[in-house]
Amino acid sequence: MWDSRLEETLPPVRERIARALGRSGGGGDVRIVAVTKGHPSEAAAAAVRAGLDTLGENRVQELARKVDAVGRDVARWHLIGHLQRNKARQAIELFDLIHSVDSERLARTLAAEGVRAGRSVRGLLQVNVSGEESKGGFEGAAAVDALGALGALDGLELHGLMTMAPWTDDEAVLRRTFAAARRLLEECRRQLPEALRGTELSMGMSNDFDIAVEEGATMVRLGTVLFGERDT
Ligand SMILES: *Cc1c(COP(=O)(O)O)cnc(C)c1O
Repeated sequence: MWDSRLEETLPPVRERIARALGRSGGGGDVRIVAVTKGHPSEAAAAAVRAGLDTLGENRVQELARKVDAVGRDVARWHLIGHLQRNKARQAIELFDLIHSVDSERLARTLAAEGVRAGRSVRGLLQVNVSGEESKGGFEGAAAVDALGALGALDGLELHGLMTMAPWTDDEAVLRRTFAAARRLLEECRRQLPEALRGTELSMGMSNDFDIAVEEGATMVRLGTVLFGERDT
Protein backbone atom coordinates (compact mmCIF):
# COMPACT_ATOMS: atom_id res chain seq x y z
CA MET A 1 0.00 0.00 0.00
CA TRP A 2 2.86 2.43 0.74
CA ASP A 3 4.53 1.67 -2.58
CA SER A 4 1.40 2.47 -4.54
CA ARG A 5 0.72 5.57 -2.50
CA LEU A 6 4.21 6.89 -3.25
CA GLU A 7 3.79 6.05 -6.91
CA GLU A 8 0.92 8.52 -6.83
CA THR A 9 2.27 11.19 -4.52
CA LEU A 10 5.97 11.41 -5.33
CA PRO A 11 5.94 12.38 -9.04
CA PRO A 12 3.74 15.48 -8.52
CA VAL A 13 5.91 16.53 -5.56
CA ARG A 14 9.06 16.24 -7.66
CA GLU A 15 7.30 18.19 -10.41
CA ARG A 16 6.31 20.97 -8.00
CA ILE A 17 9.88 21.22 -6.72
CA ALA A 18 11.22 21.45 -10.27
CA ARG A 19 8.73 24.18 -11.13
CA ALA A 20 9.51 26.14 -7.99
CA LEU A 21 13.22 25.88 -8.80
CA GLY A 22 12.45 27.14 -12.28
CA ARG A 23 10.58 30.15 -10.90
CA SER A 24 13.39 30.91 -8.48
CA GLY A 25 15.83 31.10 -11.36
CA GLY A 26 18.35 29.15 -9.30
CA GLY A 27 19.78 25.92 -10.58
CA GLY A 28 20.11 24.44 -7.13
CA ASP A 29 19.39 20.98 -5.95
CA VAL A 30 16.63 20.28 -3.44
CA ARG A 31 16.77 17.21 -1.26
CA ILE A 32 13.49 15.69 -0.10
CA VAL A 33 13.57 14.58 3.53
CA ALA A 34 10.77 12.01 3.69
CA VAL A 35 9.10 12.37 7.08
CA THR A 36 7.33 9.15 8.09
CA LYS A 37 6.63 10.06 11.72
CA GLY A 38 3.29 8.73 12.84
CA HIS A 39 3.37 6.11 10.09
CA PRO A 40 4.77 2.58 10.38
CA SER A 41 8.24 1.45 9.37
CA GLU A 42 6.78 0.03 6.15
CA ALA A 43 6.25 3.60 4.99
CA ALA A 44 9.93 4.34 5.49
CA ALA A 45 10.96 1.14 3.70
CA ALA A 46 8.70 2.02 0.77
CA ALA A 47 10.19 5.50 0.62
CA VAL A 48 13.64 3.97 0.16
CA ARG A 49 12.30 1.68 -2.59
CA ALA A 50 10.80 4.74 -4.28
CA GLY A 51 14.23 6.31 -4.45
CA LEU A 52 13.99 8.65 -1.48
CA ASP A 53 17.37 8.38 0.16
CA THR A 54 16.79 10.68 3.13
CA LEU A 55 14.34 9.88 5.91
CA GLY A 56 13.31 12.24 8.70
CA GLU A 57 11.95 11.58 12.18
CA ASN A 58 11.19 14.06 14.90
CA ARG A 59 11.54 11.75 17.91
CA VAL A 60 14.50 9.63 18.94
CA GLN A 61 12.39 6.67 20.01
CA GLU A 62 10.58 6.45 16.69
CA LEU A 63 13.85 7.04 14.85
CA ALA A 64 15.42 4.11 16.73
CA ARG A 65 12.48 1.86 15.89
CA LYS A 66 12.60 2.70 12.19
CA VAL A 67 16.39 2.47 11.91
CA ASP A 68 16.08 -0.98 13.43
CA ALA A 69 13.36 -2.08 11.02
CA VAL A 70 14.63 -0.47 7.82
CA GLY A 71 18.41 -0.52 8.30
CA ARG A 72 20.90 2.08 9.41
CA ASP A 73 22.77 2.18 6.11
CA VAL A 74 20.01 2.02 3.51
CA ALA A 75 19.21 5.71 3.84
CA ARG A 76 20.40 8.90 5.43
CA TRP A 77 18.50 9.44 8.64
CA HIS A 78 17.74 12.98 9.75
CA LEU A 79 16.48 14.02 13.16
CA ILE A 80 14.20 17.01 12.61
CA GLY A 81 12.58 17.52 16.02
CA HIS A 82 13.72 18.81 19.37
CA LEU A 83 16.31 16.59 21.05
CA GLN A 84 16.54 16.28 24.81
CA ARG A 85 20.13 16.43 25.90
CA ASN A 86 19.90 13.22 27.90
CA LYS A 87 19.10 11.37 24.67
CA ALA A 88 22.00 12.85 22.71
CA ARG A 89 24.37 9.92 23.27
CA GLN A 90 21.90 7.39 21.91
CA ALA A 91 20.69 9.69 19.14
CA ILE A 92 24.01 10.53 17.50
CA GLU A 93 24.47 6.89 16.55
CA LEU A 94 21.14 6.93 14.75
CA PHE A 95 21.19 10.04 12.60
CA ASP A 96 23.42 11.49 9.90
CA LEU A 97 22.18 15.04 10.39
CA ILE A 98 20.23 16.82 13.10
CA HIS A 99 18.21 19.77 11.79
CA SER A 100 17.18 20.99 15.21
CA VAL A 101 20.23 22.32 17.01
CA ASP A 102 18.07 24.80 18.88
CA SER A 103 20.13 25.84 21.91
CA GLU A 104 23.70 26.45 22.88
CA ARG A 105 23.44 23.79 25.59
CA LEU A 106 22.29 21.16 23.13
CA ALA A 107 25.05 22.14 20.71
CA ARG A 108 27.69 21.76 23.42
CA THR A 109 26.26 18.39 24.48
CA LEU A 110 26.30 17.14 20.88
CA ALA A 111 29.86 18.35 20.45
CA ALA A 112 30.95 16.58 23.63
CA GLU A 113 29.26 13.36 22.51
CA GLY A 114 30.91 13.70 19.12
CA VAL A 115 34.32 14.03 20.72
CA ARG A 116 33.56 11.07 22.96
CA ALA A 117 32.57 8.97 19.95
CA GLY A 118 35.64 10.09 18.05
CA ARG A 119 33.85 11.91 15.26
CA SER A 120 31.90 15.01 14.38
CA VAL A 121 28.16 15.28 14.72
CA ARG A 122 26.60 17.06 11.73
CA GLY A 123 23.83 19.54 12.38
CA LEU A 124 21.91 22.58 11.25
CA LEU A 125 21.33 25.56 13.49
CA GLN A 126 17.58 25.98 14.02
CA VAL A 127 16.54 29.60 13.66
CA ASN A 128 13.32 31.36 14.53
CA VAL A 129 12.84 34.21 12.09
CA SER A 130 9.09 34.59 12.47
CA GLY A 131 9.26 35.84 16.06
CA GLU A 132 6.70 33.29 17.22
CA GLU A 133 7.34 32.47 20.84
CA SER A 134 6.16 28.90 20.47
CA LYS A 135 8.93 28.13 17.99
CA GLY A 136 12.34 27.03 19.18
CA GLY A 137 15.65 28.14 17.82
CA PHE A 138 17.91 31.15 17.67
CA GLU A 139 16.50 34.51 16.71
CA GLY A 140 18.19 36.78 14.20
CA ALA A 141 21.35 38.32 15.58
CA ALA A 142 21.47 35.69 18.33
CA ALA A 143 21.95 33.07 15.63
CA VAL A 144 25.05 34.84 14.35
CA ASP A 145 26.41 35.19 17.90
CA ALA A 146 25.71 31.54 18.67
CA LEU A 147 27.38 30.44 15.50
CA GLY A 148 30.45 32.40 16.49
CA ALA A 149 30.65 30.39 19.69
CA LEU A 150 29.54 27.01 18.35
CA GLY A 151 31.09 26.98 14.91
CA ALA A 152 34.52 26.22 16.28
CA LEU A 153 33.60 23.40 18.67
CA ASP A 154 35.35 20.09 18.20
CA GLY A 155 32.89 17.27 17.66
CA LEU A 156 30.22 19.35 15.95
CA GLU A 157 29.91 20.55 12.36
CA LEU A 158 27.18 23.01 11.45
CA HIS A 159 26.24 22.79 7.80
CA GLY A 160 23.57 25.46 7.53
CA LEU A 161 20.26 26.62 8.98
CA MET A 162 16.82 25.15 9.52
CA THR A 163 13.59 27.02 10.12
CA MET A 164 9.90 26.40 10.60
CA ALA A 165 7.36 28.85 9.23
CA PRO A 166 4.26 29.89 11.17
CA TRP A 167 1.23 27.66 10.69
CA THR A 168 -0.61 29.75 8.13
CA ASP A 169 -1.58 29.68 4.49
CA ASP A 170 -0.89 33.39 4.13
CA GLU A 171 1.62 33.28 1.32
CA ALA A 172 3.12 36.67 2.14
CA VAL A 173 3.91 35.62 5.70
CA LEU A 174 5.47 32.35 4.53
CA ARG A 175 7.54 34.04 1.87
CA ARG A 176 8.76 36.68 4.30
CA THR A 177 9.79 33.99 6.79
CA PHE A 178 11.70 31.90 4.27
CA ALA A 179 13.37 34.94 2.73
CA ALA A 180 14.45 36.06 6.21
CA ALA A 181 16.03 32.65 6.86
CA ARG A 182 17.91 32.84 3.59
CA ARG A 183 19.19 36.33 4.40
CA LEU A 184 20.24 35.13 7.84
CA LEU A 185 22.23 32.31 6.25
CA GLU A 186 23.93 34.82 3.97
CA GLU A 187 24.66 37.05 6.94
CA CYS A 188 26.17 34.15 8.89
CA ARG A 189 28.39 33.26 5.97
CA ARG A 190 29.45 36.85 5.51
CA GLN A 191 30.31 37.46 9.15
CA LEU A 192 31.62 33.99 10.01
CA PRO A 193 32.85 32.34 6.84
CA GLU A 194 34.66 29.61 8.80
CA ALA A 195 31.86 28.68 11.17
CA LEU A 196 29.50 27.03 8.69
CA ARG A 197 30.68 23.95 6.80
CA GLY A 198 27.86 24.12 4.29
CA THR A 199 25.08 26.24 2.82
CA GLU A 200 22.13 24.03 3.64
CA LEU A 201 18.78 25.67 4.20
CA SER A 202 16.17 23.26 5.55
CA MET A 203 12.76 24.84 5.19
CA GLY A 204 9.38 23.97 3.76
CA MET A 205 6.86 21.33 4.78
CA SER A 206 3.83 19.85 3.00
CA ASN A 207 1.78 23.02 3.08
CA ASP A 208 4.48 25.50 2.08
CA PHE A 209 7.36 23.78 0.30
CA ASP A 210 6.79 25.44 -3.10
CA ILE A 211 7.39 28.84 -1.55
CA ALA A 212 10.34 27.59 0.48
CA VAL A 213 12.03 26.26 -2.66
CA GLU A 214 11.38 29.53 -4.47
CA GLU A 215 13.11 31.29 -1.58
CA GLY A 216 16.18 29.07 -1.61
CA ALA A 217 15.50 25.89 0.39
CA THR A 218 18.03 23.10 -0.20
CA MET A 219 16.08 20.58 1.89
CA VAL A 220 12.32 20.23 2.25
CA ARG A 221 10.83 18.10 5.03
CA LEU A 222 7.75 16.37 3.65
CA GLY A 223 5.34 14.14 5.51
CA THR A 224 1.64 14.53 4.79
CA VAL A 225 1.94 15.31 1.08
CA LEU A 226 3.77 12.00 0.54
CA PHE A 227 2.31 9.65 3.14
CA GLY A 228 -1.10 11.10 3.99
CA GLU A 229 -2.56 12.42 7.21
CA ARG A 230 -1.26 11.11 10.50
CA ASP A 231 -3.52 9.91 13.31
CA THR A 232 -1.49 11.59 15.99
C1 LIG B 1 6.26 16.60 11.00
C2 LIG B 1 7.31 17.54 10.57
C3 LIG B 1 7.47 17.87 9.22
C4 LIG B 1 6.57 17.34 8.11
O1 LIG B 1 5.29 17.89 8.22
P1 LIG B 1 4.20 17.72 7.08
O2 LIG B 1 3.34 18.92 7.24
O3 LIG B 1 3.47 16.45 7.37
O4 LIG B 1 4.90 17.69 5.78
C5 LIG B 1 8.49 18.75 8.88
N1 LIG B 1 9.32 19.27 9.81
C6 LIG B 1 9.20 18.97 11.11
C7 LIG B 1 10.13 19.58 12.09
C8 LIG B 1 8.19 18.10 11.54
O5 LIG B 1 8.07 17.81 12.84
